[in-house]
Amino acid sequence: MSYSEFALHSLRSNQEISGDSVPILVAKRLEGKVALITGGASGIGASTAKLFARHGAKVVIVDIQDDLGSLICNENQNIEFIHCDVTQENDVKNAVDTTISKYGKLDIMFSNAGFAGSSRSFEISTYNIDDFKKFFDVNVNGAFLCAKHAARVMMPVKKGSIIFTSSVASVINGETSHGYAVSKHAVVGLTKNLCVELGQYGIRVNCISPYGVATPMMTKILGLDQGKCEEIVHESANLKGIAVKAEDVAEAVVYLGSDESRYISGLNLVIDGGYSVTTPAFKMAVAAHFS
Ligand code: NAD
Repeated sequence: MSYSEFALHSLRSNQEISGDSVPILVAKRLEGKVALITGGASGIGASTAKLFARHGAKVVIVDIQDDLGSLICNENQNIEFIHCDVTQENDVKNAVDTTISKYGKLDIMFSNAGFAGSSRSFEISTYNIDDFKKFFDVNVNGAFLCAKHAARVMMPVKKGSIIFTSSVASVINGETSHGYAVSKHAVVGLTKNLCVELGQYGIRVNCISPYGVATPMMTKILGLDQGKCEEIVHESANLKGIAVKAEDVAEAVVYLGSDESRYISGLNLVIDGGYSVTTPAFKMAVAAHFS
């Protein structure tokens, strides 16, 4: 296909999908790919599912929020929903096997479902061990099960992309609860260890580490609405002028799922506008001193 034919094809397809009167020319970077996204009913997972579909992928979203999941797939013919609790191995196995039965393959596993608790309190002396374990159930054990069952079907065909959602809490410490921070560090560890094991099968393993995105997870923890959460994130951000959205994170996942990143593996892609490379405390103390 020549470039102009390709451009015309993309333009027509985008028009059909978006229904927009003004078509947007976007190359389909995931055409022909099949993806499974956990935590796909809300926030980053839902945005990624929609962007994947827009880039030509067939998408299966799984979640424990059945109503939200069904709503998303009712609105988009290239997305379907399966109920799955990622802490339950049978659920994860069923989601992968159902995807294979329907589409014959799994190219991308985006293991994104996460638990952040409902409180900002994180003092070690009063921290309950059962609360600590809950973070591991979803964030670590869930990711492990997703990787296990994705690898099971990717290894025989010697290709695939596994992407986890970690967090900026994997590189900056002390801003979230111990359970959340430690579980997200573990996700990076899983990414790197798996990258080594699965490289021989042509399977890439990466993770993303977003900074604050005003999804339901964040609004619940802070007890504030989306606008206020965005305001706080922007105020603390290194990169000004952008109110980061779940769609910004989804763009990075498209890259890691697409063939454009075909030689990228073992990466923790931090999506934080440079937040984690700054140490503003000294600068702020000096400013406060002279104000
Ligand atoms: P969200 O609450 O909008 O979405 C999380 C989804 O995970 C929800 O739909 C929830 O139902 C689902 N989920 C939770 N437990 C599950 C389970 N056991 N099985 C299946 N699904 C389950 O929040 P989000 O911000 O979109 O979170 C997505 C990921 O991004 C999480 O891993 C989170 O830790 C991570 N993250 C979020 C931020 C942020 O600021 N929002 C920053 C860094 C990392």
